[in-house]
Amino acid sequence: MIHEPVSQLKGIGKETAENLMKIGIETIHDLIWTFPYRHEDFRLKDLTETPHNERVTIEARVESEPTVLFLGKNKSRLQFTALAGRHLIKVVFFNQNYLRQKISTGGIITVTGKWDRGRQVIVGSSVTFGPKTEQVDFEPVYSLKGNIQQKRFRKYMRQALDTVKEELPETLPNYLRESYQLVNIQEALEGVHFPLNADHAKQARRRFVYEELLQFQLRIQALRKANKENEKGISVRFDLEKLKAFITTLPYELTGAQKRVVNEICKDLLLPQRMNRLLQGDVGSGKTVVAAIGLYAAVTAGYQGALMAPTEILAEQHAENLHMWFDPIGVKIALLSGSTKTKARRELLAQLAAGEIDILIGTHALIQPDVEFKKLGFVITDEQHRFGVEQRRVLREKGENPDVLFMTATPIPRTLAITAFGEMDVSIIDELPAGRKEIETHWLKKEQLNSVLMRMTQELEAGRQAYVIAPLIEESDKLDVQNAVEAYEQLKAYFGTRFEIGLMHGRLHSDEKDAVMRAFSDGEIHVLVSTTVVEVGVNVPNATFMTIYDAERFGLAQLHQLRGRVGRGEHQSYCVLIADPKTDEGKERMMSMTETNDGFRLAEKDLELRGSGDFFGKRQSGLPEFKLADLVHDYRALETARQDAEKMLYDEAFWKDQEYEFLREDLTASGVMQGERID
Ligand code: ADP
Ligand code: MG
Repeated sequence: MIHEPVSQLKGIGKETAENLMKIGIETIHDLIWTFPYRHEDFRLKDLTETPHNERVTIEARVESEPTVLFLGKNKSRLQFTALAGRHLIKVVFFNQNYLRQKISTGGIITVTGKWDRGRQVIVGSSVTFGPKTEQVDFEPVYSLKGNIQQKRFRKYMRQALDTVKEELPETLPNYLRESYQLVNIQEALEGVHFPLNADHAKQARRRFVYEELLQFQLRIQALRKANKENEKGISVRFDLEKLKAFITTLPYELTGAQKRVVNEICKDLLLPQRMNRLLQGDVGSGKTVVAAIGLYAAVTAGYQGALMAPTEILAEQHAENLHMWFDPIGVKIALLSGSTKTKARRELLAQLAAGEIDILIGTHALIQPDVEFKKLGFVITDEQHRFGVEQRRVLREKGENPDVLFMTATPIPRTLAITAFGEMDVSIIDELPAGRKEIETHWLKKEQLNSVLMRMTQELEAGRQAYVIAPLIEESDKLDVQNAVEAYEQLKAYFGTRFEIGLMHGRLHSDEKDAVMRAFSDGEIHVLVSTTVVEVGVNVPNATFMTIYDAERFGLAQLHQLRGRVGRGEHQSYCVLIADPKTDEGKERMMSMTETNDGFRLAEKDLELRGSGDFFGKRQSGLPEFKLADLVHDYRALETARQDAEKMLYDEAFWKDQEYEFLREDLTASGVMQGERID
């Protein structure tokens, strides 16, 4: 029955069938899988708590006879006052002047409509007479075409469900439904189309969201599994005892998140497939030490490791750290950058080729053709988005299928990471080391700049340093923005000889930039005025104060990256956003910054404000479309589904047991099993 045309249902003639066809409904199956795009909530609400522009149902007493204004052909506006609770409001109906006969002073009505909070008006869409009846609280609304009304559509739906409900097979394995307490398929369809209340609808949605995400994850994971099985890699058999001993020599205990990620990396190293992993960790979450442990693991297995950073100064910082950890245990570290002198470079390359250097750190100088490793087993790139795909590939090819780890401090919401980087495994450090002081963030208007400078002076007098960030380098006619050069001049005038001011921007040569950065790092410069070039991973723990001019011009992710330059030492740090945002969204961004220091939360917020299409800048995301699931709001379900899918695919039962039949079918239908790409 289920695959019969809808015209088999009572009341569906030729015309209706045609109208249904317009929204993609041919069979009864199509009909019951047409989900409402929203639910109308008819529960009574208090207007005091109803936000502006929200739809609401209220009970009210009519306080004035309705008046009707005719606005031209078939157009009219009916209006009366009513008392809803303690609110004396206006109720307006457009083009329903026939209601005039039914509404009279003193009568009780139940109105549903849109609440205009400012003008205290409800623009009504439906009205019933008398107090609200218990009956309907919650009604689905479908996206329909032609002359089919919601009510009639629901009748067809009722009939369809009643006809085929019994023959519907369960499509989710029982054990999954039990462990997540998901309703069965009959219940779920009932709850989607005929919810008794909000919870009923919610439970139905929960089930379908999970099912949808599970199917999606099965496809991605099946693809990844196939890739893994086809691509040869090396098994890095590290020495666990040595690794453990090394970890105990660190000056602190690893956070839970660091331990988890170290385990994920080590597991990948051991596997004979090539590691292709993305490590995300908020600024200051301690990715460097995790990288070091991974590199050391490779060394204990007789391999060499490489760590590539986007700037010299970052490479130097990494080298410094690694020397500190590795010199005492006799692991040989070397640094290769553009400024390595010819003779030293030649020696270094010889040692590298002879396998005398265990770990090579550097900038893209690492990928020059004459850089040859003896036995490269593990490659890590820091701030991976700074390198092109091509550069990463060249580095990888310096070994024979070495394992690869990409690190980034740009928090990409987990949801997007899992989907957009479908082919990579993703590790996340979502916990900061204990005892970190939260950066205090304030949002001020331009006219308050003086008080900001006073506060900055206090910090400087206490021996701390400060950053001032300005969006553009040179004055532009179009944009009334404070620019770095101008800000630099102003601050020089303001501080006179009391403090040393430095200037940094993208037009400087990289050695000039490095020189300025080094002077700041060494404390010779007290205030560093800069454009966003300081964004990447620079560590100056003594800098505790950051002022960002025209902060509304930056996205949340970037503001957060910038802010991460302070709060890296023992002292309390501050970030002041100077902004006069014009839009609500801009205001909300500033508020979000003052409310949280959590990069992932901000990334989620950013995603919410901008939508996933905009998140990556251009429309390259290739994100799938879902019927019910929403990547922003259902990310927990997505993660659960991901884990379940992974387990399933490696379980033999999945490939033969009856209860997986439908999931298997979906997988086959999606083409993944034939090795097609799904994006
Ligand atoms: P990022 O993830 O931004 O690269 P880093 O690796 O530079 O972060 O680490 C930031 C700071 O936190 C460093 O000073 C590092 O020594 C410190 N750190 C890292 N892990 C821990 C930990 N588990 N406990 C305490 N401090 C830590
Ligand atoms: Mg780092």
